[in-house]
Amino acid sequence: DGHVSISNLEKVYDDGAERTTAIKDLSFDIEGGEFASIVGPSGCGKSTLLYLVAGFLDETSGSIEVDGDPIDGPGTDRGVVFQDYALFPWRTVMENVTYGLEEQGYTKEERRSRAQKYIDMMDLSGFEDNYPKELSGGMKQRVGLARTLAYDPKILLMDEPFGALDQPLRESLQDQLIDIWGDLDKTVVFVTHDVEEAVYLSDTVMVMTRHPGTKKNVTKVDLDRS
Ligand code: ADP
Ligand code: ADP
Repeated sequence: DGHVSISNLEKVYDDGAERTTAIKDLSFDIEGGEFASIVGPSGCGKSTLLYLVAGFLDETSGSIEVDGDPIDGPGTDRGVVFQDYALFPWRTVMENVTYGLEEQGYTKEERRSRAQKYIDMMDLSGFEDNYPKELSGGMKQRVGLARTLAYDPKILLMDEPFGALDQPLRESLQDQLIDIWGDLDKTVVFVTHDVEEAVYLSDTVMVMTRHPGTKKNVTKVDLDRS
């Protein structure tokens, strides 16, 4: 479960005046349950790739399949964590985390108890009624993670989730992510420009280059985690 298969993917941005090929001839697989990081220089197409897999962008050609089915826009099988947290400022921590559960047929009580489980998991107990502006950057990102985890996506897509945090915080969240991920059984696609972070967290690292369409556009590196 949570197998991602990318074949001959191409994405061209076209604003009428200018065409930018962000991704071309990109093919690779991520196994279910694998923690895969995507690294590469700014502009190589990492964010574009992540948002294509999320279903926020449409591919120009090629295909993205999850467990054998082509994706069709965003879906609850995939959850996205953003660098800038994307929390609702006017909602409390609890309301931010229950928000994603509203259209899933849970009762209000079920939503709260599900949310509480992930709030606790993210060490946010006691902050349920606080607003995002009252929290530190690291706490906001933990709310973002709790919100996404609460609806239990098979695939977690993260775009530089720790990019706005200072180094000590970054390292403590990396360790926290390793801890929870071990229990969750999810596929993770983790975009970062930080190679050390990628190697520390991942089973595999996909290295992208700024040469879309050449044979060297992506190289998959398997890390021995034993
Ligand atoms: P990365 O995340 O690796 O920095 P991006 O996916 O953001 O790379 O960008 C890949 C390429 O696509 C870059 O050349 C970038 O300028 C271009 N690009 C990204 N988003 C857009 C957009 N909305 N419109 C036009 N070009 C874009
Ligand atoms: P990152 O390197 O983290 O992807 P960027 O600064 O490259 O961040 O991009 C930030 C935002 O700007 C993204 O939403 C991306 O789609 C958009 N963007 C990037 N390049 C372009 C571009 N050439 N034209 C329009 N939008 C762009």
